[in-house]
Amino acid sequence: MRLFSTNNSEVDVAFEEAVLRSLPSDNGLYMPTQIPTLDEGFWREWRDLDFQELACRVVSSMLQGAIPEPELRDIVTDAINFPTPIVSLDDSCYVLELFHGPTLAFKDFGARFMARVMAWFNRDSERPLTVLVATSGDTGGAVAHAFHHVSGTRVVILYPSGKVSGLQEKQLTALGGNVTALEIEGSFDDCQRMVKAAFLDEDVAQVCNLTSANSINISRLIPQMLYYFEAARQFQKPPVFVIPSGNFGNLTALLLATRMGLDVGHIVAATNINDVVPQYLNSSNYEPRPSVATLSNAMDVGAPSNFARMQEMFGGQWQAMAQSVSGFSYDDQQTRVALNEVYEKYGYVMDPHGAVGYLAAQAWLSKCPEDKVVILETAHPAKFPETIEEELGKEALETPERLAVLADLPKVAISMAAEDADLISWLHHHPE
Ligand SMILES: *Cc1c(COP(=O)(O)O)cnc(C)c1O
Repeated sequence: MRLFSTNNSEVDVAFEEAVLRSLPSDNGLYMPTQIPTLDEGFWREWRDLDFQELACRVVSSMLQGAIPEPELRDIVTDAINFPTPIVSLDDSCYVLELFHGPTLAFKDFGARFMARVMAWFNRDSERPLTVLVATSGDTGGAVAHAFHHVSGTRVVILYPSGKVSGLQEKQLTALGGNVTALEIEGSFDDCQRMVKAAFLDEDVAQVCNLTSANSINISRLIPQMLYYFEAARQFQKPPVFVIPSGNFGNLTALLLATRMGLDVGHIVAATNINDVVPQYLNSSNYEPRPSVATLSNAMDVGAPSNFARMQEMFGGQWQAMAQSVSGFSYDDQQTRVALNEVYEKYGYVMDPHGAVGYLAAQAWLSKCPEDKVVILETAHPAKFPETIEEELGKEALETPERLAVLADLPKVAISMAAEDADLISWLHHHPE
């Protein structure tokens, strides 16, 4: 598998380099030079394969030998060790639950696969790979869980003291093992600045094998294709996918899957009022702007990082993208109404991101009532207890065991001043 940069088509790197660097130096995004299509043999059998077999065939086809087959199988089966059930709301509207992983959000798919792929590429190194991340809450927890217990790696997380929720702090500090939490006496911006300084420090680079495990890493998108295959094969007619979107990684993964040959009815992008992409789809004007806070906060993105990849896949043609993808956006008031409607009508508790998807699904079905629509439920409602309790009442809130146990675990964190030199010195003394 070879990759180029969306800023420079001359760039030509192997999968290993794209994964370990995350970003090309020209600040573009890595994209596969050639997207392989799945062969007839695959399509004859795909509905009958067990999920892990399906997963291995798709990933192996995309990677084209970048990781040997038996090891790739281990990586895929170890990374995706939780189910992706489809729940039917009614005859035309389905929910694809992507929150059965350890941090209760779909990002577990991408992060867990990336962690194992990075460990594989670092296997011959004497030093473990150090994943250095700054977090304001959720992303750090997902990365920490993804690398937890992955041998040959460790995670060092910086978080701003007193500025993350209690449960989020537990997700960062209670894991132990190869996860170290640094509690910084400062803001999230301080944490980010310190991480940047460490990456630029040449002495640290000499002693530590640093990587950023950035969210736009190409390896994250590859396993995110899998649940689209898994869902689509349960329908006779290709379904319409409704994707609650922020940075549009999830939607980009579906575009990759369609390039491999997956047939879908249509693609619907659902956003909150941070609606840069729906506006582009409706008007051909792309105008990124600062994000606004909403109830569906994982989608509060004003300049979606995967937009360059989406454009690349449509050859920069607005019309081509607008033909395949439709965009809808909703505000918090509408989201609240949707949470209530889904609960009253179907007895199903959605999270605010899924609720935005539900609204877009209804909009699509009112135009095309014959379609089957699959809404991606990107997070477990228990991650948003305030909103769920406010709208649906306490009885609607069920906290899954894997979240509940965290509350009782002790917090272990190293306190640190918001000084670049302190982090650099700490890394020097703890190179592994
Ligand atoms: C990250 C996230 C999204 C947005 O996904 P993108 O791939 O960035 O579009 C939606 N919902 C939840 C719960 C998320 O965590």
